[in-house]
Amino acid sequence: MGRMDVRMTTQTAVQGMYLAGKWTMREAKIDVLDPHDQSLICSVPSASAEDMHLAIDEAKRGMKIAAELPVHKRMAILHRAAEYVDENRTRFARTIAMEGSKTIKEARGEVQRCIETLKLSAEEARRINGETIPFDQRPGSEDRLGYYFRFPVGIIGAITPFNDPLNLVAHKIGPAIAAGNAIIVKPATVTPLSALLLAEAFDHANLPHGVLSVITGRGNEIGNVLVTHPDVRMISFTGGLETGEQITHQAGLKKISMELGSNSPVIVLNDADLEHAVRATVSGSFSAAGQNCIGVQRVYIQEGIYDAFEELFVKETLALSVGDKMLETTDMGPMINEREAKRVESWVAEALDHGAKLLAGGVREGAYYTPTVLTHVPQDCMIAKQEIFGPAVLLYPVRDLDEAIDLANDVNYGLHGGIFTENLENAFEAITRLQVGGLMINDSSDYRIDGMPFGGIKGSGIGREGVKSSILEMTEPRVVSFKLKHRMKA
Ligand code: NAP
Repeated sequence: MGRMDVRMTTQTAVQGMYLAGKWTMREAKIDVLDPHDQSLICSVPSASAEDMHLAIDEAKRGMKIAAELPVHKRMAILHRAAEYVDENRTRFARTIAMEGSKTIKEARGEVQRCIETLKLSAEEARRINGETIPFDQRPGSEDRLGYYFRFPVGIIGAITPFNDPLNLVAHKIGPAIAAGNAIIVKPATVTPLSALLLAEAFDHANLPHGVLSVITGRGNEIGNVLVTHPDVRMISFTGGLETGEQITHQAGLKKISMELGSNSPVIVLNDADLEHAVRATVSGSFSAAGQNCIGVQRVYIQEGIYDAFEELFVKETLALSVGDKMLETTDMGPMINEREAKRVESWVAEALDHGAKLLAGGVREGAYYTPTVLTHVPQDCMIAKQEIFGPAVLLYPVRDLDEAIDLANDVNYGLHGGIFTENLENAFEAITRLQVGGLMINDSSDYRIDGMPFGGIKGSGIGREGVKSSILEMTEPRVVSFKLKHRMKA
């Protein structure tokens, strides 16, 4: 029953959740729907609070097994899981594209990144190092020698969003296993199937039972058990600001990693390569139908090239093909559901009511919302202040870099930013003053590789992901000091 094959059939598939190595069914179910037409893909268990307690009990056993796994075994498991994803990449990509809103092209890209994340995790496992400590820096400690090791935190509770349903789960499981932890994943309710496929990969890789559970259920019903349980020593959360704040309040005294949203700014100066800047910002605005934590939301364009930029940006936006996710020629699919598309529609309506001008898009049909470009959006509108998380982008003319930076910083988020300029002085000015966790020079905010520190400041989060950074977050230093009888001499 382990192997899942998501197909479009008239028969409804039912997929178990992965409870400490056992594929487990429950009477209560959650239907997983294709956002394209709301058709039923598959059902998964709607886990109860009791199931979450069970998973935590199993993880208490699992954390000992995980910590005792020698590094070469952790590496072998991670490499085998990566190979399994590679060998089954078509099935993985179809699953992502069907349950979520990515096109099949975008889904393939995510599968490739997941493979890289797992391989990176395997490689980083051998580099979990401590360092020696010069204790003799303190008078009276001349007879001490020592260092620190890094030890696993124990049980990690991972909560993930819908928009990268595979690779963001890999970003939790890979580093957790590399660092010798047990991990319980609660994937987004609307996209649980990709996470369960990843559990299948680890099952195939002979990960000892108890180290990993993927528990499918609603966050507001079972999330609280995971978040507040005293034996869960770290919560690694990726999702929205509101949920992140709620979890932070509930979690109490444990490690917390928060990968939250943003409304990323991109600055385009007069000296930029116009065509390149337009291509990159259009792609960064509308990939994954704008449901992307580092997607471009606000573009500040210097007055000298504003008109040319706007004209080309609208032209490129109107050329995007929106529709069937499974077609190779489709550039953008639906949003995750109609409720979300209606939210975007209402935010755009509010901006238009307050004097904004619509240059492209603004049309909703079911969960589809056409790529939308707005100008003259007042700063106090929802769409200017909050994270849109949908296919809409705002263009603003600015006098100079100074004004662009002030406007870019005037929000409660700070994940990624971008700047297009040929001038090093301008680039360094932006590096110094933009309040972000990552700045892309001559690229849109929507650039990331899986091996770099990734995360934000302000409302965009706490801590960093990216495999090496996650391993640091998922381990604790333990200092060792030897008191010698005599001071060691060279
Ligand atoms: P969300 O609504 O915050 O949900 C994220 C996860 O939290 C889901 O698994 C959800 O479960 C769970 N959850 C909800 N309420 C909970 C509670 N009370 N206790 C514990 N868990 C709870 O976010 P989303 O709509 O899925 O994803 C979009 C957001 O994620 C955007 O803001 C985006 O920017 C952000 N994001 C950030 C990054 C990053 O790395 N910085 C990457 C991707 C996405 P249910 O599905 O059952 O509600």
